[in-house]
Amino acid sequence: MLTDILQRFSAFTLTVKHLSRFPHISDLISGSPPSLAATVPASEVPTLFREPYILSGYRPVQQDWRCYVLSLFQRHNESLNVWTHLLAVPVLLIRWWANVSALGCPLDAASLPLGLFMVSALTYLCLSVAAHLLQSHSVRAHYFFFFLDYVGVAVYQYGCSLGHYFYTSEPAWRDRIGRLFLPGAALFAWLSCAGCCFAKYKYRRPYPVQRKICQLIPTGVAYVLDISPVVHRLLTTSWTQESSLTFHTLQIASFLLSAFFFSCPVPERFFPGRCDFVGQGHQVFHVFLSMCTLFQLEALFQDYARRRETVVVVFGEWQLWWGCVTFPVLLTCCILTALLTMRYTDKKLREQKDTNL
Ligand SMILES: [Zn+2]
Repeated sequence: MLTDILQRFSAFTLTVKHLSRFPHISDLISGSPPSLAATVPASEVPTLFREPYILSGYRPVQQDWRCYVLSLFQRHNESLNVWTHLLAVPVLLIRWWANVSALGCPLDAASLPLGLFMVSALTYLCLSVAAHLLQSHSVRAHYFFFFLDYVGVAVYQYGCSLGHYFYTSEPAWRDRIGRLFLPGAALFAWLSCAGCCFAKYKYRRPYPVQRKICQLIPTGVAYVLDISPVVHRLLTTSWTQESSLTFHTLQIASFLLSAFFFSCPVPERFFPGRCDFVGQGHQVFHVFLSMCTLFQLEALFQDYARRRETVVVVFGEWQLWWGCVTFPVLLTCCILTALLTMRYTDKKLREQKDTNL
């Protein structure tokens, strides 16, 4: 038993050591800035980096890390994937600041879920920016940064659940699902991270249907659960009385549209090579997901303003703190899952290299 634990610990230490191969801040700021290589067609990058119907605008692999950071200002086929989420960050911060100034938001137990929702939204946006900006460096970087992207998505799912549960849910909904909701939301958030990491590790292009099953079933169940208090309220409450319901409707509509563009490579499917810089379905997915987050922020602020006096009385301080303590626990579990999958991916890549020699 002890040997097994020690072996697992040393394996984890090795995984952490492997991370030292990723860039340090000192690498990024030392020396003169490198010159950026021109983008190349799909045929000049490994298959892993090729996106369906995107024929050009790929950044060459194995450049200096600083080239990928500086490619923020270069025209390539990931530019708008980066900017669509990068620009959402200041917009979200401005709306946060405007709402806090208008409604007030003291640092207390009642405002904790709102704060964690904001942290979760910023986490997924920043990790998505990092993934799209830096993944082209190498096959390892591609896997590593997309595993982290899945961590961001899981954390965001749980951040939304906290907001919906404490500020949006109605008593009749809580009587039915109640205390099972947050543990269920945390479990399915972790499962969606684990499912996406596993699918990325396991399957190669052309992707089999099992890949979509691993990604979409846990993520879909997590969304249905997370949104259930909102849907219940939309169906049982008069819309004329509560302005937040319009924002909740908009967040659901934006999410459904984003899910469509995430799953289907349109419009590039109909115009191969014409959407290499602008117009890719993934860019549209990013825009709708950012809009979904902004509508959620507005809706949650209005729900918070309406319920902040009663939220501690209804749920109790203990449940608020417990709900919020599980947030860093979930974050840690997802990071460990991503690192563990990275370790298996490294092993698989080494085996492939040995076979090719
Ligand atoms: Zn993306």
